[in-house]
Amino acid sequence: MLRSASARLSAPRLIHRRLFAPVSASLVASKPSSSSPRSPFSSTAPPAMSSAPHPVHSTSHAADPAAAIPDSGAPTATPSAGGANAAQQQQQQQKQPKEKKPKKGGDLAQGMASLELNPAPEYLASRVELFERLKREADEKLASMPREPITITLPDGSTRDGTSYETTPMSIALAISKGLADKTVIAKVDGELWDLERPFEKSASLELLDFEHPEGKKVWWHSSAHILGECCERHYGCHLAIGPPTDEGFFYEMGMTDDRVVNQGDYAALETLAKNVVKDKQKFERLEVSKENLLEMFAYNPFKTHIIKDKIPDGTSTTVYRCGPMIDLCRGPHIPHTGRVKSLAILKNSASYFLGDQNNASLQRLYGISFPDTNQMKEYKKFLEEAAKRDHRRIGKDQELFFFHDLSPGSAFWLPHGTRIYNTLVEFMRSEYRKRNYQEVITPNMFNSKLWETSGHWQNYAEDMFKLDVEKETFALKPMNCPSHCLIFASRDRSYRELPIRMADFGVLHRNEASGALTGLTRVRRFQQDDAHHFCMPEQIEEEMDVCFQFLNEVYGTFGFKFELKLSTRPEKFLGKIETWDEAERMLSKSLDKFVPGAWTVDPGDGAFYGPKIDITISDALRRKHQCATIQLDFQLPQRFDLTYRSAEGGADAAAANAVNANANATAGADKLVRPVMIHRAILGSVERFTAILTEHFAGKWPFWLSPRQVVVIPVAAPHKEYAKEVAQKLWDAGLYADADLSDSTLPKKVRNGEIAQYNYIFVVGSEEMESRAVNVRNRDDAGNKKARTETIKLDEVLDKLLRLKNERRLDNELR
Ligand SMILES: [Zn+2]
Ligand SMILES: [Zn+2]
Repeated sequence: MLRSASARLSAPRLIHRRLFAPVSASLVASKPSSSSPRSPFSSTAPPAMSSAPHPVHSTSHAADPAAAIPDSGAPTATPSAGGANAAQQQQQQQKQPKEKKPKKGGDLAQGMASLELNPAPEYLASRVELFERLKREADEKLASMPREPITITLPDGSTRDGTSYETTPMSIALAISKGLADKTVIAKVDGELWDLERPFEKSASLELLDFEHPEGKKVWWHSSAHILGECCERHYGCHLAIGPPTDEGFFYEMGMTDDRVVNQGDYAALETLAKNVVKDKQKFERLEVSKENLLEMFAYNPFKTHIIKDKIPDGTSTTVYRCGPMIDLCRGPHIPHTGRVKSLAILKNSASYFLGDQNNASLQRLYGISFPDTNQMKEYKKFLEEAAKRDHRRIGKDQELFFFHDLSPGSAFWLPHGTRIYNTLVEFMRSEYRKRNYQEVITPNMFNSKLWETSGHWQNYAEDMFKLDVEKETFALKPMNCPSHCLIFASRDRSYRELPIRMADFGVLHRNEASGALTGLTRVRRFQQDDAHHFCMPEQIEEEMDVCFQFLNEVYGTFGFKFELKLSTRPEKFLGKIETWDEAERMLSKSLDKFVPGAWTVDPGDGAFYGPKIDITISDALRRKHQCATIQLDFQLPQRFDLTYRSAEGGADAAAANAVNANANATAGADKLVRPVMIHRAILGSVERFTAILTEHFAGKWPFWLSPRQVVVIPVAAPHKEYAKEVAQKLWDAGLYADADLSDSTLPKKVRNGEIAQYNYIFVVGSEEMESRAVNVRNRDDAGNKKARTETIKLDEVLDKLLRLKNERRLDNELR
C-alpha cells in the first residue's frame, strides 16, 4: 500500500513522507525519531517545488488523519492518529519530554508484583454504570425499530434474505460457513466498515474482510489498541488519551495520574493482563451517546474531555465502545470480541505530548502488535530479530564502512571500505550511462538565491536549505540538481536535432533535516543521487520512458530486487492544462503497458502538481518495501526557466509539439521555438540510502562485484608469506580488493577472521600451492558447512574466474 497526502498547492510545508508498507521503517529500525520530518522534496510538494520531484528520503509513512481512532468520536479528532510513523512525525515535531526516572524500589518492583490496581480506579465503575443505563435505553429503541424484509447482496452477486434491525453480517457469515465467520474480522456494508454484530438497517451490499485484508488488519489492530488501553487502565489507573492503529501494530498513549513512567519491566504484567482480557472474550459493544452524556462519562479524563469538547459539535452525538470494564470514545468498528486476538505483545514505549504539542501534558506511549494466531507472532518476532541483525548501522560499524560525527550531523564519513562500495555503485551507474547515451555533467554546489527564486524553492522551502552569505548576497547549497541542469540547457540555443538530452549528475546535495530526525544513512543531510534529467520533445516522452524502464530493469535485476510500478495521476490541484495532463497520462500508461502489461497500478490523484509520475517500489530480502526510483514528467520547470528548442522549421513536428505543449512561450515565435518536456528520474535515489538498503538486503554479505573485501590470502606458515603477498598483489593489480593476512595468528584463527570480515573468498597457500602456483579456495557462502570442500585452483585460472564474476556482476558467489 503506497499512499501519500494529496498534493496541496497551498500547503505551507510538507510534513508527509512516502508510505511504505509493510515495514519501511525497519531500515531505520522501529525507533521513533525525535525531530522535524521535513521532506520538502517529496513528490507531493507544493508548487514551488516544481523542481523537486525526487523523494530521496522516503522512509516514513504518510499520516492518515482519518484513520480509525479508538478514542475519538470525530473523524478529524487528532492530528496524531494514523500510524507509528505518523506518531513518529508527531514526535519529531516536538522535543521529547525528559524521561523521568522511576522512583526507587517503588513502582518498578510493583509492576511485576501486581497485575491490577487494588482498589480498581473509580472511573471504571461509574463509566460502566452510565453505559449500562444508556445501553438499556438504546436496546429498547432498537427493539422498537420496524422489522422489514431486506436483501443482502454479496460480492459474487448472490443474495441473502434478512430482516432489518435483526439480521447481522455475522449471521450471514455463519449461514455461509462457520469457518468463514471465524476468519472474518470486519464487515463492509454498502462500502462502509461495519461491526459484524451490528444489524442491517436496510437492504445493502456486504463484504466480509479477514485479517489479511488491509482494512481488516487496521480494524484488528485498532481493536487491539482497546485491549491495550484496558490493560493500562487496570494496571496504572491512567487516563487514556489516543490509541490508533499504525501500519504495523498500534499504540496507546496515556497520562499518568501520578509521576509514574512506563518502563520495560511493566510489559510482562500488561501482557498477562491482556491474555486475561482475551480469555474473557469481552464483546465490543457499540452505543451512541450524546455530547452531554459523553462529557459526564469521561469527566475524570482531561484528554477525552478535550477531544469531546473540541471535535463533537454541541447537540450531536457520537459512539463509544465497551469491552469489559473499558469504555472508549470511538467511531469503531471493531472485531466481535477480544477472544479473537490470540497473541498480543508490547514492543516498546516512549514519551510524547498530548496531540503532539509540547505545551500540552506529557504522556506515556506503549506500542504493541497482535495477530490472530501465535505462529504469526513467532514469525513476526523472528523478523524483528533478523531486521535488527541486518541493521545497516550495525553492519556499517562492524565492517568499518562509515560513521557519523557530532561535528557534522547527518553527513556520513565514508571509510575506505565503505567508499569502495559507494564508488562501485556510482561506477555501475556510469557504465550504464555510457550504454544509454547519458551525458554526465558536474554542477556547482551553491547558488545565488536568485536561482531558487526562479525555480520556486526560495518562496516556500528556503528553510530547508543551508544558506550562506557571500559578498552581501545570499547563496544556498543545492538540495537538488534540476535547476542547474535547466541552466545548462539554457546556456545556448538548442535544436530539436539534439534532443533528447539525457543529463546525469552525481552532484553532492544538502538538505536541512533537523538533527533529531537524522537516522543512519536513511535520513541524512548530505547525499548524492544517481540523478538525471531527460530534456525531450513532447512526442519523445514514450521513447524516453522506454529508456527509463529498461534502465530500471537492468539495475534492479542486477541487485535481485523485484519491483512494483504505480502511475500517479493528476491531483485535484494542478498546474497546466487538463489536455496536457491527459496526453501525458496516456503516454505513461502506454509505456507501462508495454513494459509490464497488466502488472501496474494507478493511484488516482496522487501525481505531483507539476506532472504525473511513476513510483517504483522495490522489495528487499525481508520483503520490506522501499521506494527508491521515481520517474516524473515535468511541464513546469521548463516554463519557469523559459527553456526552448528550435523545432524542425514549419514541420508537422512543431505543430504536434505545440498541441501538447500548451504552455510554450507564444512570444518566442510559436512555430519555431518549442518548450521541451523534462523528465526527472533517479534509480538508486540517494546513494547513501540505497547503500543502507543493500546492506540490509544482503545482510552484509556483499556480492563479489560490490564487495569491499573480495579475497584474503592466508599463508599456512611463515615460509609461504612471500607467496601469499605475491598472490594478493596480483589480484590487486588486476583491480580486485585482495589482502594478505601476514599476521602471526594461527591458521584457523586467520580463516575465522576472514569469515567474520565477510571476504567472499579465502585463499589458503602452503607448499603445495606455492609449487604449483595455485591457491586453495574457500567460498564464503560455504562457511559453517562441514561438507563444503575446498578446491585447489591454478592462480591464473582463479583470477580469470574472479574477474568474470566481477564483470558480470553476478549475485552468486560461484567461480565458473
Ligand atoms: Zn475503537
Ligand atoms: Zn530533478
